[in-house]
Amino acid sequence: MTNITVIGTGYVGLVAALGLSDFGNRVIGADIDPDKISMLQSGKSPIYEKGIEDYLRRNLDSGRLSFTTDIGKAVRSSEVVFLAVGTPPKEDGSADLSYIEKAVGTIADNAQGYTVVVTKSTVPVGTNRILQKYINTRNPEAEIEIVSNPEFLREGRAIQDFFHPDRTVIGTESSRAKEVMKKVYRALNLISVPFVWCNLETAELIKYASNAFLATKISFINQMAALSDAVGADIHIVSRTMGMDGRISSKFLHPGPGYGGSCFPKDTKAVVSTGERYGVDMSLIKTVISANEKQKKHVVEILVDMMGNPAGRTVAVLGLAFKSETDDVRDSPSLTLVSELLSAGAELRAHDPKASDNFRKIIPELQCFDSSYEALEGADALVLMTEWNEYRALDLELVKAKMKGSVILDARNLLDSDMARDYGFNYRGIGRGNRLKVT
Ligand code: NAD
Repeated sequence: MTNITVIGTGYVGLVAALGLSDFGNRVIGADIDPDKISMLQSGKSPIYEKGIEDYLRRNLDSGRLSFTTDIGKAVRSSEVVFLAVGTPPKEDGSADLSYIEKAVGTIADNAQGYTVVVTKSTVPVGTNRILQKYINTRNPEAEIEIVSNPEFLREGRAIQDFFHPDRTVIGTESSRAKEVMKKVYRALNLISVPFVWCNLETAELIKYASNAFLATKISFINQMAALSDAVGADIHIVSRTMGMDGRISSKFLHPGPGYGGSCFPKDTKAVVSTGERYGVDMSLIKTVISANEKQKKHVVEILVDMMGNPAGRTVAVLGLAFKSETDDVRDSPSLTLVSELLSAGAELRAHDPKASDNFRKIIPELQCFDSSYEALEGADALVLMTEWNEYRALDLELVKAKMKGSVILDARNLLDSDMARDYGFNYRGIGRGNRLKVT
């Protein structure tokens, strides 16, 4: 059993704290947000993630897991400290490392005995080495070694991804820290999860390269979807068939309203900013970023093309989260759609099974309803923005009865296009040969 503190109890830190406790370690989840900590202490999760409260209560009951706002005290009792605080983008696209710096300062001031600091937060290449120097200068007596252990979990499947990762990447040049990390992750080693041991910079770059590549796949397929619309091809058959080629893989080839979330938008910008710092051409990733911005606006353009000027018209928006199975709305494409339609004078009626409250923290004037059918009442148009299963199962008869108009823009291609057209809807998906009826 290892004594561990996880600093930051957000989407990554909370899941890591639960998982590490489930492995049998004694874990303290520490956060500066007292509301989050008191919720967690009472067995309630501040984020939505399937199954998370079962893990939370089980580990609290086991006595191995606790939560605190006293970060210094938690650090003093730990051999390993995970860093899982946010690294949001600054105005210029580079990562804001102020949360990391604050947390590392607390660790440097409080660590007792040999302590391994494990950076799970996504930090620009070179950051961990700088942090190590900073710790050594701030507290030359401290025996602290920094390890880079980037996180790859997907929100919505975070718990499953924690227990069954495709790989675990650990950047360290210290054999002592390596032994500590082997002990912490023994449970993953036992189930033959591949471990990649490398230096700090390699570990940091693996994370950025992976996210930049996935974002590139999404922007690529979105542009192919636009071409499909123009020429009357069906992007689903195109992408499915591309995916049959083992060199390509079918994952991340689903067209949609553009990527969002807390990782791809900020990590692609950070890669560009790192390239600029080192004088390395990142034009490919710059194009991916601008293609994604255009895609988010393209959804609004298609809608205007279908319904005309949205001023004074009622639009139902189903889906506010950046993807299904999460309540996370950070950089969600729905933010672009909703703000553009509101400024154009449309009346909006929205629904999301989990993300309405978070969305209204950003756009408070948005009217949200408890059920999707309520949001559809009197709507001239419907836009499907998030791939929640309940939207796939919409009863089109009922949709028709609730709506005043007949426009459906399916930005996730959830509905059967032929069936929707047979019901009399003016239906468009993304890249499904919108100019032609697919037979
Ligand atoms: P988050 O915003 O959900 O959580 C961050 C938490 O850190 C918050 O609870 C905040 O109160 C806390 N915090 C900030 N400063 C602190 C401090 N000094 N001491 C203690 N707590 C502090 O963020 P997240 O989505 O969990 O992401 C965390 C990091 O992991 C980011 O670098 C992100 O890029 C990376 N990451 C996120 C995901 C994801 O899907 N969310 C996946 C992989 C990697």
